[in-house]
Amino acid sequence: MDWETLKATCLQCTMCPLCQTRHNVVFGVGPTDAEILFVGEGPGEQEDLTGEPFVGPAGKLLDDMLRIIDLGRHNCYIANIVKCRPPHNRDPLGTEQDACIGYLRRQAKLLNPKIIVCLGRIAAMKLIREDFKITRDHGTWEQKGGIWFTAMYHPSALLRDVSKRPDTFRDLKRLQAKAAEICTHTP
Ligand code: SF4
Repeated sequence: MDWETLKATCLQCTMCPLCQTRHNVVFGVGPTDAEILFVGEGPGEQEDLTGEPFVGPAGKLLDDMLRIIDLGRHNCYIANIVKCRPPHNRDPLGTEQDACIGYLRRQAKLLNPKIIVCLGRIAAMKLIREDFKITRDHGTWEQKGGIWFTAMYHPSALLRDVSKRPDTFRDLKRLQAKAAEICTHTP
């Protein structure tokens, strides 16, 4: 399935109950040759209204964080575990994640990234390992299937608790070092 077909299929998806309350499917954005894929847990209110991932206050913070290490939407792909907003921003249920994860897997297959960065606990538990603890394991790296995985705090968590920001700054610098080591057209 190519990008256009995948996106068109996803935009019409009714595979889980989140389709009943969404305004827009938030497929993901970024260049299709990006070497770094960021994955959050799911769209929030602003994302649901616009169809773009990470566009509210947390999205602005993410953009600011990425700018520190010369990354952004121009050279990274940004997506979520679930493509439709869970009501009242609750965590996506396991059944919803299982219904939706195939889209992210196909996106990753088409993209073939060198690095996947999980933003927050939900994405890290789904993509890295079930017992991932974001407070303990953020900033660590592991390789699976030829792709390097890491996780950092979700920007929403950084908005709620500024004391986590120094840790995230260190995680960003580790990401910058890994990108310099293995990426070919990402700074
Ligand atoms: S969250 Fe995913 S699986 Fe559920 S309806 Fe939306 S696109 Fe389909």
